[in-house]
Parts: sequence; structure tokens; C-alpha cells
Amino acid sequence: MLTGGDTIFGKIIRREIPADIVYETDKVLAFRDIQPQAPTHILVIPKTHLRDLTDANTNDRELLGELLLAVAHIAKSAGLTESGYRVVINNGAGAGQSVFHLHLHILGKRKFAWPPG
Ligand code: AMP
Repeated sequence: MLTGGDTIFGKIIRREIPADIVYETDKVLAFRDIQPQAPTHILVIPKTHLRDLTDANTNDRELLGELLLAVAHIAKSAGLTESGYRVVINNGAGAGQSVFHLHLHILGKRKFAWPPG
């Protein structure tokens, strides 16, 4: 189902705008961030529209699991497992979310500070 929702990511899901897609299943899409914050910066999104994590409920249990498994698979394919990688969800505008379609950032191939900024 290609609902996507009314955001830029919905347009990517429906192939209305281009993206550098690196992974796809019937439920999940992953593509390179247009403004990378690390040498490897990939976004993993559900194809159905969830605004953010708060928008998810128990019906999304399987989808949320698939998103995390996709992250692990993509990180492995991108050669990030040895060096380590960071997975980020900016949840809500106050946390830096700018696109209101749930997405997981995979960041790799640079050093990371803790706590994050
Ligand atoms: P966030 O600030 O957590 O909502 O992250 C949104 C991310 O989407 C940012 O890192 C943007 O650079 C990225 N982004 C916005 N538009 C596009 C696009 N058309 N293709 C790929 N990444 C995008």
C-alpha cells in the first residue's frame, strides 16, 4: 500500500520526486539523506504514514520491528557494523523533527559525541 502521506517522504514513496534509494520492501523504504550529516547518512521510513513514534500504536508493532531490522540490515550492507553507527529518531519539532513522516536516521563513518547535541 503506497499511502505515504502528505510530506516530502510521501512524494518519495510514490516516486513523485527522486531519491537515492538503497533498500526497499513492501513496507519499508530507505534512501540517502539529501543533506548528509555524516559520510553515510541513510533514512529508513515506513511506506504507510506515521507522523512520529507517538502516532504509532500496537497495530504497528510488526512495522516498527521491520524498521529496526531494516536498519540493522542496511548498516551491515553499508559496512557500518565494525566501526559502529548511530540510529536517531527526532520525535517532534522540539527534538529537531522537520519532516513529519516517521524516519530513522542511520549515521556512520565518523566519530560521534555523547550526549548528542
Ligand atoms: P528530521 O530533521 O529528523 O525530520 O530529518 C529530516 C531529514 O530529511 C533531514 O536530514 C533532511 O536532510 C532530509 N530530507 C529532506 N528532504 C529530503 C529529500 N528530498 N531527500 C532526502 N532527504 C531529505
